[in-house]
Amino acid sequence: MTRQVVVMNSSSDRIKPHFVLVPLMAQGHMIPMIDLALLLAERGVRVTVITTPFNASRFKTTIDQANVSGLPIRFVELPFPCAEVGLPDGCENLDVVPSMDLMLNFFEATSLLQKPMEIYLRKHEPYPNCIISDLCHPWTKKVASNLNVPRLTFFSICCFSLLCNHNISHYKAYDGITDENELIVVPGLTQIIEVSKAQAPGFFSAPGWEKLDEEVRQAELVADGIVVNSFEDLEHSYIQSYQKAMNKKVWTVGPLSLYNKDVSGMAVRGNKDTSIDANRCMAWLDMMMPRSVIYVSFGSLTHVLPSQIVELGLGLEASNRPFVWVIKDRERSDAVDEWLADGFEERVGSKGCIIKGWAPQVMILSHPAIGGFVTHCGWNSTLEGVTAGVPMVTWPHFADQFLNERMVVDVLEIGVPIGVTEPTMYVNPEVLKFVGRDDVEKAVRNLMDEGKEGEERRKRAEALGEMAREAMREGGSSHVNLTHMINSFSVNDKKSNKCK
Ligand code: UDP
Repeated sequence: MTRQVVVMNSSSDRIKPHFVLVPLMAQGHMIPMIDLALLLAERGVRVTVITTPFNASRFKTTIDQANVSGLPIRFVELPFPCAEVGLPDGCENLDVVPSMDLMLNFFEATSLLQKPMEIYLRKHEPYPNCIISDLCHPWTKKVASNLNVPRLTFFSICCFSLLCNHNISHYKAYDGITDENELIVVPGLTQIIEVSKAQAPGFFSAPGWEKLDEEVRQAELVADGIVVNSFEDLEHSYIQSYQKAMNKKVWTVGPLSLYNKDVSGMAVRGNKDTSIDANRCMAWLDMMMPRSVIYVSFGSLTHVLPSQIVELGLGLEASNRPFVWVIKDRERSDAVDEWLADGFEERVGSKGCIIKGWAPQVMILSHPAIGGFVTHCGWNSTLEGVTAGVPMVTWPHFADQFLNERMVVDVLEIGVPIGVTEPTMYVNPEVLKFVGRDDVEKAVRNLMDEGKEGEERRKRAEALGEMAREAMREGGSSHVNLTHMINSFSVNDKKSNKCK
């Protein structure tokens, strides 16, 4: 049975537009889209978020907080059809899909939400003015056309990476390339950017994914516009070029993480349960010198193997800098726990704070003691690092992360690459190239360097952080773009409800 948590109580409901948001059930997709939902609701837009019971339970505290503050937002929990596609029960988020072999089943299950979503929207007032759906949900194209409402595609990926992917495909840059690791220059850019096919293969390029890839492409072609978690001062020319290449309006409305202004929102962002270690670490950070601590985290999906965890830990220890290091639950094993307990934690003592489980990342990054970020370059984390005004050690693993690394290192010049050249996700561990402790130590020392190079990098990062905050203030570029976007879809006539 479909459950809904309704918080629609705005007195002027009749004149406010109604936006329906459909995030992909993965943390790096849900978190920014829920921030967007809250931001829209804060502006008086009526918002419906389509999700599933497991995912709603993760965001329960955020939903409850929205409820208490009276924001016009509702979370609709559609049952997720695990059994129909052969997924284990409760497998409702990409981070709990037990194996790569079941990933396609997960996407198939999401597409089965089409009918229930349509039925729900037909049955429940108010009628939508606009659907904003994740790029990975091409099936929402049908919902939008059946309901005759406009649909925007949402990306928590920067326009630089989107444009690189687009140009590589458009100019057939990999044609004739036989070595997956050969570097090519991305065509059609003003700056020289080099990547390999292994690093930037496109979104759904693995064998077996051709159908979904084509559906995503088709859905993108007919979308009424694009919403991106980025901001104009960060990548103005890439936004313009991407908009031109796609021939449709692009609204940059980020950094969306800045929706979370107070501690209570930041603490529960992405998960209602922050680990006990995380609370301890926040108190520990209070005792540290400004800009002295490195924050190390690889997002929600990467799976760092035990032997790599050991090398990373030894490298952090050797760098002799205070650190906060997040080890996800799924990365923990008896071997990892034993190694941590067998001398490492004691040796680093008060110099290191290890968070086992979910970390309140935005809260940590915004702490004045944080001076650098070792990141896997997921776009949300990258943008959160930019927003915090800190330089980064870039350690990409897969997906758009290698392109994001180029953005941080070559375009923004606020990054120090750890030196990985090939993807590390879904690679047979037997042939995987590990990053050694010496590389970690070198990159961290380089990042935290107090010489001229480090100082200039820090200054650039701080300036970008200020621009990020400015973009979200009233009158800032993202604030204005959001206003334009809302106004573009405020028509209540279903038939003429098209993007202008
Ligand atoms: N995140 C968090 N705590 C964690 C791990 C991740 O708050 O312990 C958040 C992080 O702030 C970001 C998102 O999860 O908003 C991860 O998205 P990203 O695009 O960086 O990486 P992904 O998980 O998609 O690889």
